[in-house]
Formats: sequence, C-alpha cells, structure tokens
Amino acid sequence: TQGAFELTYASMYQPPQELHDAFESALKTFAADGAQEHPLWIAGKPVHTEERLDKRSPADLDTTIGRFSVASLRDADAAMAAATGAARSWGLTPWRERVAIIRRAQQRIQARMYEIAVAVSREVGKNRVEALAEVAEVVDFCKIYCAQMEAHEGFDRVLPSDPVPGMHLTNRSVMRPYGVWVVIAPFNYPFALAAGPSLAALVAGNAVVLKGSLATPWSGVLLAECLHEAGVPAGVFNNIVGDGPGIGAALVTDDRTGGVTFTGSHAVGRGILAHQASRFIPRPCITEMGGKNSAIVLPGADLDAAAKGVARSAFGMGGQKCSALSRVFVHEDIADDLIGRVAEFVKTLVIGDPLERGTFAGPLATENGYRNFGRYCEQLAGSARIVMGGHKPDMPRRGQYVANTLAEADASHPLWSQELFCPILLVGRVKSRDEAMQRANAVPYGLTAGFFGAEEDIPWFMDNIEAGVTFANRSLGATTGAWPGYQPFGGWKASGNTGKGLASFYYLPQYMREQSRTIA
Ligand code: NAP
Repeated sequence: TQGAFELTYASMYQPPQELHDAFESALKTFAADGAQEHPLWIAGKPVHTEERLDKRSPADLDTTIGRFSVASLRDADAAMAAATGAARSWGLTPWRERVAIIRRAQQRIQARMYEIAVAVSREVGKNRVEALAEVAEVVDFCKIYCAQMEAHEGFDRVLPSDPVPGMHLTNRSVMRPYGVWVVIAPFNYPFALAAGPSLAALVAGNAVVLKGSLATPWSGVLLAECLHEAGVPAGVFNNIVGDGPGIGAALVTDDRTGGVTFTGSHAVGRGILAHQASRFIPRPCITEMGGKNSAIVLPGADLDAAAKGVARSAFGMGGQKCSALSRVFVHEDIADDLIGRVAEFVKTLVIGDPLERGTFAGPLATENGYRNFGRYCEQLAGSARIVMGGHKPDMPRRGQYVANTLAEADASHPLWSQELFCPILLVGRVKSRDEAMQRANAVPYGLTAGFFGAEEDIPWFMDNIEAGVTFANRSLGATTGAWPGYQPFGGWKASGNTGKGLASFYYLPQYMREQSRTIA
C-alpha cells in the first residue's frame, strides 16, 4: 500500500484513514531489525567501516534499531576526494539533466515514503504524522527546486550587447556551482534538513558531502540510497556519519569545500562562521541556527484557538523544533483564562510510543536533551510557578519521556533567554502590547513568532516583531508548521545569517555564483 495517495500539506493536518493504513503496513514490512548494518555512502558505493554505532531507540532504550558505520577522518577525506573528483563534470552537466535526476529522486522518495517515515520515527521518536510530514516536505523540496531551475531556464540569461558602436558583443550571465558543498544537519529533522540543502546544492550543480547527526544516522543513508537509485553519478552525493567536533569540523575546514550549509545550534554555527570569516578565499556559508520563539496573546484573541496554537507549538515533537514556542506573553486581563485553556488542552495530548496512532509526542531524541530537561525542571521548581508538568512520567518502556511543562516565571528568570529544546513553555503576564513586543524582541534569536489578537493589530505585530517566520491567529501552530512553497523558513538575528527562507524564491541562487561571459 506504499504511495497509496500523495501526501500533501492538507493531508498532514487531517490525516485520512489511508495514511494510517499505509503507515501500519510499512511498519509490518520494515519490522525492527536491530542487527541490520547501515553503511556510509562514498564515491557511489556503500562503505562499511570498522567502527559501528548500535543506535538505541529513544522510545525504548533496551531496543537497538540498527548498526551504523561511523566514519573516521580517513573516510571523511575519501568522501571529500570523491566529491572533488565528481564536481566538475556534474557542474557541467546540462541543468535539465540534473533536474531530471532530482525528479527521479523525488519519485524514489515518494515510492519509499512510508518506509522512510518509519525509520525517521524510530530514530528521532517523532510521531507518525510528523515523520510522514518530514518525508513529504522533502518531496516538495525536489519539486520546488526543479521548478525554480525550469522557471529561470537554469539561471542562464542573455544580456543586451554593450552599447559600443561596431563591437557586436554577446553578453551572458551564467550561474555556476561552487564545487563541493558540505551539508551539516541536526538531529531533529534528520531527513528534511539533510535533504533540503543537499537537493538545492545538487540541482545547482554542486557535489555534496553530507554529515548528519550521530544521534540520527539512518535518514542520511536512506537519502543516499534514493539519490543513487535515481542515477546520481558516483561521487556526486556522499553521506558520512561521524561526530561533529571531529568529522564535521574536518569537512567545514577542508580547503576543497566550496560552500557550507549548517543547520544546528547557535554555538556550533557561530564557530563555523568564525572559521569561514578567517579564510583567505572566502566561501558561502549558510547557517540556520537555534530559536527562542515567542507568541503574543492580546485581548480580542480567540482564546480557544490561541490555547491550541500555543500548546501545539510548544509541545509538538517534545519542543525539539527550532521553531518551537518557548515564551508566551499574554495580556494580564486574559492571562488566567489562557493558562487554564492551555492546561485543559494539553491534558488531551497523548505522550507515548511514537509509532502508535494517536500519539501526540514521543520521547526526547537525545540523552543530552533528556538530562537537560531534568536540570531545567529543577531550576524552575525553586524559582517559578509550575502550572503543569515539570517531571519525567512513568512509562511502560524505559524511554526518554518527559511531561509537557508550563510555568510562570519572573521576567528576570535565566530560562527566558536560553534555547531549551524540550517541552517547557514559560508564560509572562504583560500590561500592554508594547511591553509584549519589547519582551518578545529582547532575545538575540529571531526565528519564528506568533500572534493571537484583533485583526487590526496583525500589521503592527508583523512590522515590529524581529523574526524571519511569522504567523497570526493560527490554531494549527502558533509558531510551527511552516511548509515548503507556502511559508519560507529562515531565521533572523542569531537564528540565521542569510535571512533567506528554505525553499523560498531567494534560497536556491545561494548555491550558485555568477559568471559574466562576453564574446566579441
Ligand atoms: P548541534 O549540536 O549544533 O549539531 C548540529 C550538527 O553539527 C550535527 O551534525 C553535529 O554533529 C554537528 N557538529 C557539532 N559540532 C560541530 C563542529 N564543531 N563542526 C562541525 N559540525 C559540528 O545541533 P543539534 O543538537 O543537532 O540540533 C538542535 C539545534 O539545531 C537547535 O539549536 C535547533 O534550534 C537547531 N535547528 C535549527 C534549525 C533552523 O532551521 N534554524 C532547524 C533545526 C534545528 P553530531 O551531533 O553528530 O556531533
């Protein structure tokens, strides 16, 4: 039943029965096989290394979900060499041929989407709908980048002749790739944030070396399989799994690297930017980093919609989205009402096995995140009013499960400014809309932001909030749920250095450089 129907933006929000049927059938077909060996992909071949990682399920720490080859520095060097060797001919391949290959990759991903979603759900612990949405997002990335190449004729333009009498010059502007593009991806969207930048780099004519997170090694392997099944030539796409400070740093500092896309924490992204800035030959470096996203709720809001939007964005995927809501500023006149409604709605959200139908949030994906949640709760216990949650619930399996946590804290509390990346939402009461805006903007981050209130206040909100992605009166998610082609996704301030949203009109050209061609 795979590919029983096309997954779309709409079907993700109201999953039909066929979606569940197809997912359950994939669950049976791709039954847990913790002994299965997963290779790296270098120079068009699967490569099994000596060092292996037995990846445990975050939903059940007593279960292994697979054995993954881990790259050494020598493997990283081999991947760079393979990409360097393949980059020239891939860059000179007519863009229509590259588009045809990426379209075939799209078909492969579509054909395997339930299988990939099962893997994504098992390695990160996100629920089935979120996992399917992640794969559907990648299908859309393929469509969007290919359509953009076509709409701009490969970004190749004939320009007017010079206005010099008798010279008869022909002038052209051609967009060319940079060579080898390194993609470093985070754990929370292991398939989409590995594939999104990689596909843009590939369709633009770059060869790619991908390093996903060691916490989620499976998605990159599946992406490599789909790309090779589609006919990507050997060496054009390489996937290696290895630790960030060793393997990741080696890739971004390698002289053969032509450009970098990093998605992850601000601390690591900032280090990568500092290195790039110090190079003799500068190179493009796209860094999409953390967030500390806020919502403002003012009188005039539909409080039921606000409560749902706030809860879904704060607690969806255990708060492990860069776009997750972690601060809500609510006018004091409606604060008790909103807090009560959020608490009521949260009671209906099921925490449990991510593969089960009806689960809202699974476990936290990483041991580190699980430990941090405990530390933050201890910190809150002595210094804030915990409205709900604040603990690790007892569950039938030994997994990294945490309770959705809502707390009221003073404006001076240190957790107001730090990205927590777990389901902790802080509420602050404000006396005016200006105070709400001032507090919302008082952090270095600027990724997503939400507003609930009167329609006439929406332009004020969008004009003044310092965030790259804004939503108003959206009960499906106050700050989360941007979809490629509909809501471009990129951060401002410490959340991103380019200000150009993923899959937007402005995104793809970043993977190319202009060459002016004049012939007399
Ligand atoms: P992270 O710790 O910064 O890691 C991201 C990636 O960088 C991983 O592959 C990591 O490898 C690698 N890495 C670590 N140190 C490195 C170094 N010195 N040089 C090169 N690479 C290095 O982030 P994460 O915990 O995976 O992801 C969560 C963070 O990502 C949050 O801050 C979240 O907000 C952010 N994020 C942002 C966006 C966005 O679009 N703005 C989207 C998703 C997530 P290993 O983990 O394997 O060591």
